Amino acid sequence: MTSASTFEILVPAPEDGSTRARLARLTVPHGAIDTPQFMPVGTNATVKALHPADIAEVGASIILANTYHLYLRPGHERVARLGGLHRFMGWDRPILTDSGGFQVVSLGDLRIVDDEGVTFRSHLDGSVHRFTPEHATAVQEALGSDIAVALDHPVTPSSPRSVVADATDRTSRWAERSFRAHERTDQAMFGIVQGGLDPELRARSVEAIAAIPFDGLCIGGLAGDETAAQREATLDATVPLLAADPRPRYLMGLGSPADMLEAVDRGIDLFDSVLPARVARNGQFWVPGGRLNIRNTRYQDDPEPIQADCPCLACRGFSRAYLAHLFRARELLGYRLATCHNLTFTLDFMARIRAALRSGTFPATLPELRLRAGRVSDSEVVVQSA
Ligand SMILES: [Zn+2]
Repeated sequence: MTSASTFEILVPAPEDGSTRARLARLTVPHGAIDTPQFMPVGTNATVKALHPADIAEVGASIILANTYHLYLRPGHERVARLGGLHRFMGWDRPILTDSGGFQVVSLGDLRIVDDEGVTFRSHLDGSVHRFTPEHATAVQEALGSDIAVALDHPVTPSSPRSVVADATDRTSRWAERSFRAHERTDQAMFGIVQGGLDPELRARSVEAIAAIPFDGLCIGGLAGDETAAQREATLDATVPLLAADPRPRYLMGLGSPADMLEAVDRGIDLFDSVLPARVARNGQFWVPGGRLNIRNTRYQDDPEPIQADCPCLACRGFSRAYLAHLFRARELLGYRLATCHNLTFTLDFMARIRAALRSGTFPATLPELRLRAGRVSDSEVVVQSA
């Protein structure tokens, strides 16, 4: 492990096997992160519609920024010349940059993957670019995030086994090269476990990635087109292999409270997703037990706040009627207030999970937490940070 991060398990998973959830604290150069934790996504070095003060107020202790997007625009070298990503975006708390692998595969055209790296076309202007493990590492070092992630080769969970096997083995080779290329001592680095839905490939990937002294382990290749049952079975096959591993486990791309709760129960510490913010911008407010669609005509005369006990910017100052008006008029303030609310709800939900873990009541509190999380449709679950 680098000296850039520490991970202290405060309440380990109980030995009776009732849950694999644990309470911990991850410390990186710009601050400490209590886990289980959710990371809002700031794709273009901004969490859409929010001022950094809003991001802090909703309770975020770490955000994710996208390496692929920032490499293409404004360019990692420009960000470095301007003092690094924290100064550039006015956020002085922890930042994780992803590997860029997912966006290259999901957004870039062309995409010629060979053992050396991946060649792709920019989704912005069609220009041709190449990421290698060494280059993706250098880009993240220039951005100066607290946590960098090794370049991987993600594939859709339902891909044929031979395709998943090939990408999983390539991810292992690229993980070693990324780790060797990483030089910044004030930046931690996580590696990514792949392997699709196949327990054997997952085990092979865990063995290869966990052997490298990364600061944390990402579980990739999920939150895609798999069902919740397939995802949970994959976690049940993967996380126990890491039972004695002292590092944080980060499930990439998952963001609905209901899904995160089940993943925490299976031993996951960190999450990220654009989901809470994206559904907010569609006028869907998450509330205990479900959601409120502000476009519904019945809210046009409703003087109540979105959620009476919510401390967010929207609920403190405004009625459902006003928010219904803002969304009808497509006013920009509506997007900001809705995003503040959904992120407050999501981060408060993670805080409730941590409180239950701290008091040793997590298994007993699960039914109550499941009720609060409500249900979201499968189509919402698959929204990723593209
Ligand atoms: Zn609120």
